[in-house]
Amino acid sequence: MISVEHLTKAFPGPTGPLRALDDVSLEVPAGTVCGVVGPSGAGKSTLARCIPLLERPDSGAVRVDGTDLVALRGGALRDARRRIGVVPQGDSLLRQRSVAGNVALPLEAAGADRAERRVRVGELLELVGLADKAAAYPDQLSGGQRQRVAVARALAARPRVLLADEPTSALDPTTTASVLDVLERARVELGVTVLVVTHDMFVVRRICATIAVLDHGRVVEHGSVLDLVTRP
Ligand code: ADP
Ligand code: ADP
Repeated sequence: MISVEHLTKAFPGPTGPLRALDDVSLEVPAGTVCGVVGPSGAGKSTLARCIPLLERPDSGAVRVDGTDLVALRGGALRDARRRIGVVPQGDSLLRQRSVAGNVALPLEAAGADRAERRVRVGELLELVGLADKAAAYPDQLSGGQRQRVAVARALAARPRVLLADEPTSALDPTTTASVLDVLERARVELGVTVLVVTHDMFVVRRICATIAVLDHGRVVEHGSVLDLVTRP
């Protein structure tokens, strides 16, 4: 499970420090999907960067299975970071590498040998329904297929948590559903805990058990979707 405790992050603003995250706490039970929603400027992307320590929070803790990533430095932080797989915002695949090559990137970084990479890449492409696209290049794929490759890549190093920042923002409803199905498969088949930043209530209704609503850097609602949103 992942818990975020009293996370704070300020940026210099025109009239003094602007608190993009102001004492943000949330808890996602193991093997569930939590949606992070809220208006533009609420702090969602800042949270999505601070949780995997892509950006360092000013204070607070990010615990994955008990370990606080914020307290770690150097090699220990690098290792602990692998527990969080990130699907970055926007189109994040390397154009000059094949689908298999993109999925293999974290495995290369982790020093996996060729045979291990091949087996693992095969499993991951199977999981996201793109086994027949291993040799294709990102430009030959649809937007939804590219996002599924990004999910496969995020899962390559066997993270315990998957963090996806607006994974369906540029997609139509059908394609959105295919990407959400892949996140749901990762949860069910791999047991990963999923945090998904979204502005789309369809995403919330379709896969989220809980949500955290951010506004002006603060959590204004956090709890079960059944309690906070009506199901379709
Ligand atoms: P959201 O993703 O919910 O739209 P963001 O996390 O992008 O919100 O932004 C939250 C606030 O922090 C906004 O007021 C934004 O202008 C500010 N902010 C985000 N990143 C930076 C940055 N690198 N430098 C200065 N201000 C930033
Ligand atoms: P690129 O040309 O994009 O660099 P590579 O041929 O180097 O791609 O392959 C990258 C990684 O993907 C390698 O680790 C390889 O083992 C793996 N890989 C390549 N093709 C497949 C495939 N069809 N099934 C599974 N893994 C593959």
